[in-house]
Amino acid sequence: MSYDLVVIGTGPGGYVCAIRAAQLGLKTAVVEKRATHGGTCLNVGCIPSKALLHASEAFEEATKHFPDLGIQVGTPKLDLAKMQAFKQSGVDGNTKGVEFLLKKNKVDAYHGIGRIAGAGRVEVISEDGGNQMLEARNIVIATGSDVTRLPGVEIDEKVVVSSTGALELAKVPKKLVVIGAGVIGLELGSVWRRLGAEVVVIEYLDRVLPGMDGEVGKQFQKILAKQGIAFKLSSKVTGVEAAKGGATVTVEPAAGGEPEKIKADVVLVAIGRVPYTQGLGLEEAGVQMDDKGRVQTDSHYATNVTGIYAIGDVIAGPMLAHKAEDEGVALAEILAGQSGHVNYGVIPNVVYTFPEVASVGRTEEELKKDGVAYNTGKFPFTANGRAKANGTTDGFVKILADAETDKVLGVHIVGADAGNLIAEVAVAMEFSASAEDIARTCHAHPTLTEAVKEAALAVGKRAIHI
Ligand code: FAD
Repeated sequence: MSYDLVVIGTGPGGYVCAIRAAQLGLKTAVVEKRATHGGTCLNVGCIPSKALLHASEAFEEATKHFPDLGIQVGTPKLDLAKMQAFKQSGVDGNTKGVEFLLKKNKVDAYHGIGRIAGAGRVEVISEDGGNQMLEARNIVIATGSDVTRLPGVEIDEKVVVSSTGALELAKVPKKLVVIGAGVIGLELGSVWRRLGAEVVVIEYLDRVLPGMDGEVGKQFQKILAKQGIAFKLSSKVTGVEAAKGGATVTVEPAAGGEPEKIKADVVLVAIGRVPYTQGLGLEEAGVQMDDKGRVQTDSHYATNVTGIYAIGDVIAGPMLAHKAEDEGVALAEILAGQSGHVNYGVIPNVVYTFPEVASVGRTEEELKKDGVAYNTGKFPFTANGRAKANGTTDGFVKILADAETDKVLGVHIVGADAGNLIAEVAVAMEFSASAEDIARTCHAHPTLTEAVKEAALAVGKRAIHI
């Protein structure tokens, strides 16, 4: 078969790229080695983790907060098998949705491992060993990422688990040790704490959520600690010994010192993700990689080999589903002769715990490092009417605006629904808004969005409610 475009991998990058290309009239095929489409995100990432975060939050609400609202339901009981089935139905609904969309857009889907057999040729090796050769004017590598392993630590997905195993546990562990205080570790740590596990998070750095705004990280850690998660920061895991039914984690201070042993029923290794290029034949095809094992591309997602492109987690940039999707759209438009573009300065980043953390644009640390003069406007949810009414007053909104032009440079939020609140500032930033623009936009009362408006007012030192 001969195509204008063959996309390898149907995660958020790949399937979106294929659909957009088909919309633009390109004859398109996808190759996926998993049984279902949607990649890491829909199968073992964003979707199942959010389903468990939602269900476990409801469990905690019912257990701890219903009495405060005047609701008596007795002691809620956990049916973990049912909760896992709820999660799976969300995953199935989404992956079937992608299958439907590919069909609707007349994208041919091949199941098997895609291997680049030279420019213009993709070999599909199916599970039964059969193979098929596809001719392609353009090839897109959208093979995503895989779990980063800790040297010397074997992940058996039962006692020592990656995020994939942590989404599948059949029993709530009495004690869960999470290695890594990044987004995935804190989200999954929150799920199992809410369901009854004692959770200890071990982090090499002296802070949680590396890369996000420092003040936000500090406040967030305090909130999670109040909820019962224990933290061991500036600590290095030097070994994990698994035995039947548990494991012993050896930890020592990052700066060196006496090691300590911590016993756990389950250990979650959540120290990041690495680009996935196994079996693709990139070396033979002469595709250049960078020093982090990512496929190297130019600003139009082209590799050094004519006709081969790459998007999503497998290339540089934040490993986020919406970044991969936007790159998929941009590349399809470029291949169709249009001028696709992604604004990397405005990619929101959200942690879906309770409260949520959301950020877009630059952090205070980055602005200081770059010597940019800025003004800060901060507004706490304790002063927001709706947050008070809901009893969800943890957190704040912080807006950083250019000292000279008032242009919004970054927004960082800890608070209930922060992931939705960040959308309005992302739109504002896309349109190069000033803090004054946000401050003068009428926000509905009583909503949490008023905290965003008040933070914008606070940039000009004229917030009303503090
Ligand atoms: P992937 O989604 O990884 O898809 C790549 C696909 O390529 C896979 O289906 C794979 O099977 C296939 N493939 C690989 N090699 C081949 C081959 N040779 N032949 C055929 N097929 C191949 N991001 C967010 O934005 N929000 C979140 O809330 C979020 N939560 C997450 C939670 C967890 C637990 C994890 C692990 C990740 C989460 N992410 C989240 C990150 C998100 O999943 C990724 O950024 C996103 O999936 C990247 O999309 P992608 O298309 O680049 O790759």
